[in-house]
Amino acid sequence: MALFGGVNMNKKTMRDIEVTGKKVLVRVDYNVPLDKSGNITDDTRIRATLPTIEYLLSKNAAVVLASHLGRPKGTVAPQYTLLPVAKRLGELLGKEVQFVDECVGPKAEAKAAELKSGQVVLLENLRFHAEEEKNNADFAAKLAKLAEVFVNDAFGVSHRAHASVEGITKYLPAVAGFLMEKEINFLGQAVSSPSHPYVAIIGGAKVSDKIGVIGNLLAKVDTLIIGGGMANTFIAAQGYVTGKSLVEEDKLDLARSLIEDAKKRGVSLLLPTDVVVADQFAADAASKAVSINNIPGDWMALDIGPDTSKAYAAAVKDAKLIVWNGPMGVFEMDVFAKGTEAVAKAVAASEAVSVVGGGDSIAAIEKVGVQKEISHISTGGGASLEFLEGKVLPGIAAINDK
Ligand code: ADP
Ligand code: MG
Repeated sequence: MALFGGVNMNKKTMRDIEVTGKKVLVRVDYNVPLDKSGNITDDTRIRATLPTIEYLLSKNAAVVLASHLGRPKGTVAPQYTLLPVAKRLGELLGKEVQFVDECVGPKAEAKAAELKSGQVVLLENLRFHAEEEKNNADFAAKLAKLAEVFVNDAFGVSHRAHASVEGITKYLPAVAGFLMEKEINFLGQAVSSPSHPYVAIIGGAKVSDKIGVIGNLLAKVDTLIIGGGMANTFIAAQGYVTGKSLVEEDKLDLARSLIEDAKKRGVSLLLPTDVVVADQFAADAASKAVSINNIPGDWMALDIGPDTSKAYAAAVKDAKLIVWNGPMGVFEMDVFAKGTEAVAKAVAASEAVSVVGGGDSIAAIEKVGVQKEISHISTGGGASLEFLEGKVLPGIAAINDK
């Protein structure tokens, strides 16, 4: 039995329970990006749920889908309606997806009651009700009334004890959908039984965002690679001039203690030896690669340098497991994307099981075009970080044990 943080991770999936002919409520994460006119600009999250929905339909289940979208803050905010998502899902499934403009109450109940085997309905935005995020028991019970079985396929919100994720499991048998199952398997492996050499790559803007995960990874990895904005705090902590780089002054002691901790544990902690500096935070800034002991006092480091890129690529080459969260530089600007690109290519080329999480990291992987070479792209940024920190995710804990 796999135990993470004392929690049984041997969770029931849709295959462990009778769903044939049943009414099944599936919590999905359809929190998709919308443009100013309300068009869906990326339907990855909708596509990601197709295997679960198609499986249930193949078992003649009647499928009731529930999701949140945006931050309507507990009131009906028409710009956050899930109606366009129902339409897009219908196109992707190649069958009608009904929509009901409520998620609880008489209308939703009538719709769920009349729903036949093989039919799909999407409920309106859960977060139009403040009770959802408060994990209100009555609200959870009302949702539960709509179905006989609950499937959680919304990994991205499983670090939150919300009514549609946690509360509802008190009223219905609760199992994992296929997307959830995949997340638990890949991230679970990294937490409880990692293959070695295990290399973690942590980057992104700030140390403070990822301090929990860095601390936890140091106890597990063979190599920890640090890049991105947060590397500047480590560079400053070693006593180098960092100019106008993003540095968290209040995290310098912490960075020094992490460097010490890595030494004590025999973890190879890789920090930049050179960086790409710019005279301003702009795509057309003057820029150059310098050694970390040569950062001009009025410039800022926006990417790892070419020597560092080579060293990082070499460090992942023979890994058996790679976990990556956070870009190596300001990859949104092409001039500062080279470090991230080099690392992405090295991760893609390695034979290792590779797990990438974080919204910007996934965008970077897609920009480089190597997403097919990554074993698992985690759908939940915050949730995957908390999972890797070894925290108990309430939404996963609430799924029935095998
Ligand atoms: P993720 O979404 O993958 O978890 P983060 O949100 O933590 O990643 O960090 C991504 C952001 O960090 C990007 O917007 C990127 O521009 C920024 N970033 C990376 N390197 C630097 C740097 N050297 N200075 C400033 N910002 C940086
Ligand atoms: Mg981000």
